[in-house]
Amino acid sequence: MTHPDFGDDFERPVAAGGSLVDTLGRPVHDLRISVTDRCNFRCQYCMPKEVFGPGFAFLPRDQVLSFEEITRLTRIFTGLGVRKARLTGGEPTLRSQLPTLVELLKGIDGLEVTLTTNGTLLASQAEALAAAGLDRVTVSLDSLDDATFRQMNDMDFPVHLVLEGIEAAARAGLAPVKVNAVVRRGVNDHTLLDLARHFRGTGHILRFIEFMDVGTTNGWRMDEVVPASELRDRIDAEFRLEPLDPNYTGEVAQRYRYRDGAGEVGFITSVTQPFCATCTRARLSADGKLYTCLFAAGGTDLREILRSGASDEEVEALLRSTWERRSDRYSELRSSETAGLPKVEMSYIGG
Ligand code: SAM
Ligand code: SF4
Ligand code: SF4
Repeated sequence: MTHPDFGDDFERPVAAGGSLVDTLGRPVHDLRISVTDRCNFRCQYCMPKEVFGPGFAFLPRDQVLSFEEITRLTRIFTGLGVRKARLTGGEPTLRSQLPTLVELLKGIDGLEVTLTTNGTLLASQAEALAAAGLDRVTVSLDSLDDATFRQMNDMDFPVHLVLEGIEAAARAGLAPVKVNAVVRRGVNDHTLLDLARHFRGTGHILRFIEFMDVGTTNGWRMDEVVPASELRDRIDAEFRLEPLDPNYTGEVAQRYRYRDGAGEVGFITSVTQPFCATCTRARLSADGKLYTCLFAAGGTDLREILRSGASDEEVEALLRSTWERRSDRYSELRSSETAGLPKVEMSYIGG
């Protein structure tokens, strides 16, 4: 079959042990775990202040899964093919004792554990996270221009403290760090070459993400999406790029290397070149709902079955039947109509 990212010789991902696949033949490989719906930023494309203001009702503590509940679910998921867990949120480093969760998850045989963070608390937490066994970290940083970044996070948070977080992660052994920048036309697209110049040659891997219509509150407009092809051409005009093969089937970023050997840069083309055909990601919200797509309107409640005294086999049967029913391919179907459909918020479901 032909795939927009991988061409004619694209093959659908194969399930571990040939077992669990969804209705489109996709296995489950990655579990994104939101450990909190709270955040210390108010990025306008994710948690606009007008919606997530002082009156916003975040999840009460007793509705949030405990570390033991998350670990149990993840262990059961690994029996179904999951090999990678990514901790996210909201801002995952706000969850108290996060390194303890990393340690518990790393106790699961063969599981890779990674983290996506805004980097604000990394300087103080990187060492403990690395010591707990964290494999890798992705830090979100949308601009190196201080005024632009302060405006985008809407908390007046300066760039230099995020850069310190990235360096702390590298010192703790979590290098190379992936750095994610969401690009919005007219907001930060004038500062992208600065990001490319800064991270070239550092060993860290910068990835540009197309602005997505996640949730219903971020005022998404197609004309604010800068196609990855345009970004790539702009970088290529200054530093010659050449494409790299994906590391594995289902990798979300299109990878390029600088021809002069200064490292690599990636583009996540969720809007202009969707990659639903290879999407092997399940998402667990902080309150224990399982979502099979970033753009889903609803999820399967796992907290209830966990807290009802069900056996591992019963929980596994629910995970299995949920995945087997999956037919999501929102990004392939995106249109002006789908943009207005009900969807969960990114800060709740995790990126
Ligand atoms: N708070 C952490 C962070 O910012 O890295 C983790 C959660 S955040 C929801 C995960 C990722 O989603 C971040 O890289 C963020 O930039 C990205 N993101 C959030 N809203 C987005 C949107 N509307 N379009 C594209 N990416 C988005
Ligand atoms: Fe918070 Fe991350 Fe969303 Fe920004 S993108 S508001 S840092 S959860
Ligand atoms: Fe996966 Fe849904 Fe994104 Fe498609 S739209 S890649 S199915 S999360």
